Amino acid sequence: MLKGMSSDCIFCKISAGEIPAKKLYEDEQAVAFADIDPKAPVHILVIPRQHIGSLAEIGASEQEKTLVGHLLGIVNQLAREQKLGKGYRIVVNIGPDGGQTVDHLHLHLLGGRQMHWPPG
Ligand code: AMP
Ligand code: ZN
Repeated sequence: MLKGMSSDCIFCKISAGEIPAKKLYEDEQAVAFADIDPKAPVHILVIPRQHIGSLAEIGASEQEKTLVGHLLGIVNQLAREQKLGKGYRIVVNIGPDGGQTVDHLHLHLLGGRQMHWPPG
């Protein structure tokens, strides 16, 4: 098993290529892939390869802040590639009340339609 991987985590398995996903970007630190149940015409998830349970686990260390900044940069790069110039939304669900269902940090990139506010 790779360092930083959780053996029963579906997103760790996608990162490792052990279960299939439509990958749109990958590097040493991060992977982006299409959401299996899209909530918008463009719905992409960006994850760190390292198993981090949620954004709530991110502290103040330079390494953690750099990682989150890197994930945001990937989201913006994907938004440009997907031609979301009219706008898009980045969502990070945290914990049960936040609507998080997969306990591996992920940023949702949603676009291609008008988003609504407030979210449900
Ligand atoms: P969240 O509710 O914020 O934890 O988001 C989890 C997201 O992961 C949902 O939008 C799911 O549709 C998506 N998802 C779950 N399993 C997979 C998978 N195997 N491949 C791609 N996306 C997935
Ligand atoms: Zn994981």
